[in-house]
Amino acid sequence: MIQITDKKTCCGCTACKAICPTQAIEMVPDALGFLYPKVDTNKCIDCGLCEKVCSFHAGYATAENLPEPQVFAARHRSMEEIAKSRSGAVFATLSDWVLRQGGVIYGAGYIDHFRVAHKRATTPEERNEFRGSKYVQSDLNSTFKQVQSDLKKGSMVLFSGTPCQTSGLKSFLTWTRTDTSNLFVADIVCHGVPAPHIWRDYLAYIEKLEGQKAVAVDFRDKSQLGWAAHKESFTFADGHKRVEQTYTYTFYEHIMFRHSCSNCHFCNFTRPSDITLADFWGWQKVNPQLNADDKGISLVLVNTAKGQAWFDHIKDGLTYIPTDKATCLQPNLSRPSAQHPLREQFEKDYINKGFQYILRRYADKGWRYKLLRLKQKSKTAIRLAKRIFIK
Ligand SMILES: Cc1cc2nc3c(=O)[nH]c(=O)nc-3n(C[C@H](O)[C@H](O)[C@H](O)COP(=O)(O)OP(=O)(O)OC[C@H]3O[C@@H](n4cnc5c(N)ncnc54)[C@H](O)[C@@H]3O)c2cc1C
Ligand code: SF4
Ligand code: SF4
Ligand code: SF4
Repeated sequence: MIQITDKKTCCGCTACKAICPTQAIEMVPDALGFLYPKVDTNKCIDCGLCEKVCSFHAGYATAENLPEPQVFAARHRSMEEIAKSRSGAVFATLSDWVLRQGGVIYGAGYIDHFRVAHKRATTPEERNEFRGSKYVQSDLNSTFKQVQSDLKKGSMVLFSGTPCQTSGLKSFLTWTRTDTSNLFVADIVCHGVPAPHIWRDYLAYIEKLEGQKAVAVDFRDKSQLGWAAHKESFTFADGHKRVEQTYTYTFYEHIMFRHSCSNCHFCNFTRPSDITLADFWGWQKVNPQLNADDKGISLVLVNTAKGQAWFDHIKDGLTYIPTDKATCLQPNLSRPSAQHPLREQFEKDYINKGFQYILRRYADKGWRYKLLRLKQKSKTAIRLAKRIFIK
């Protein structure tokens, strides 16, 4: 039976829980809210399926992958769709096609006041919640079983998520001999997933400052600041919007990621999905006009023959330009994000000293950040002064 002795070896995909024939496995949160499998030994019959299904331990299937992925820079033809998506709204195009075939969409949405979780959608209105990046690990709940049930009923299904989630789903469906001919899988290039409890506490902190509950959140708001900007926003019932950068700052510090993210097996071009989506950093090399308005541009990797057929169905809804691997290369297509050296201390401090302390010590609120900014500013001032005097 599965036992997690090193947290770096479990991405929390839930495949082991889904496959267990005696429902002996529960997903239990750690101090930061990341879920890990826990076996009830009284229910376990030692069948070993939970270990076999774990693609994060045993490696993931790549037999269906094309020898090389096809690479595109792409964006939706509708600016309205682009405005509501993180990058070029290719996910909206892919899911619209599946919905038109009478299919079902699974993606990351919200439950219980902006807790991030995977949900099922059968209409564009329900699917719309999945648009946009949520920088928190999504709770998969019983999604894998629901996908299996939809496939068994003969429905077309699109599952979208991080590559460790798509890989876990595919492994679960293979081990349960489920017919996957109607399954379409899309993943994202993934930097890492932040801790659910930090997001929960941060939202509560912002709401306390405002004295009211948020009615909408945007983890990376591009409405005022553009696609390349890194700011989160909160909208309140009275209509005003608060723009912040503390959460985004901490996200890019890699200090609140799941442990498995620094041991990620999916930071490469051999993807566990039919199609991969990402921001197209370096789009200027493809065409300097492509994203000159800074509204957002997607990288699309077509990884399988099924992905090729899928892309052919949707491509008329996109403006797209073929390109290559060298042009679209970005950090998380070549190596996992390095874990912050204080990651362990961060967790201990959160447990022992609480969220407010974390905010001051590790985010952009405390004296450490102010000192760092001061150092950076003085370095820039010295550089400028040197240039002036040398001239
Ligand atoms: C945690 C995270 C890290 C990322 N890291 C990178 C990166 O390093 N480099 C890069 O280029 N792009 C990264 N992205 C992907 C990128 O920001 C866009 O999501 C992607 O380009 C798709 O954009 P879109 O406009 O086509 O669709 P959108 O509508 O913006 O994308 C929505 C899709 O993302 C999925 N999604 C959103 N949040 C989550 C979540 N928490 N867990 C699982 N799936 C989720 C939805 O299910 C849906 O499929 C990351 C996204 C997330 C959520
Ligand atoms: S990676 Fe997935 S299958 Fe493996 S132990 Fe963790 S939750 Fe279970
Ligand atoms: S060994 Fe079998 S019964 Fe025991 S927890 Fe794993 S899957 Fe369940
Ligand atoms: S970085 Fe890797 S392990 Fe972490 S969430 Fe993304 S795909 Fe999963």
